Amino acid sequence: MNGCEHLSEIRSVTPSSEGCEDCLKIGGRWVHLRMCMSCGHVGCCDSSPNKHATRHYNESAHPIVRSIEPGEVWGYCFVDDRFYETLPSA
Ligand SMILES: [Zn+2]
Ligand SMILES: [Zn+2]
Ligand SMILES: [Zn+2]
Repeated sequence: MNGCEHLSEIRSVTPSSEGCEDCLKIGGRWVHLRMCMSCGHVGCCDSSPNKHATRHYNESAHPIVRSIEPGEVWGYCFVDDRFYETLPSA
């Protein structure tokens, strides 16, 4: 796979939370969950009202997320706006 340079920032992380950790704090609701591959932050997708995965990227500059929806393994680099069918493991 011809990867962007951010794939090197993937760590062996575990999800920080069962749901979007920021929504859980504020009692918000989410549509889909994304996990940050740098720190394990779990945030909600851009179809969710609070877009916490994107907000986490804006605050942390952690570039790569993956879907943690059941059966979904795709990843996404915010910096390059690039989707990956699968991500390499750390
Ligand atoms: Zn990238
Ligand atoms: Zn959220
Ligand atoms: Zn992160």
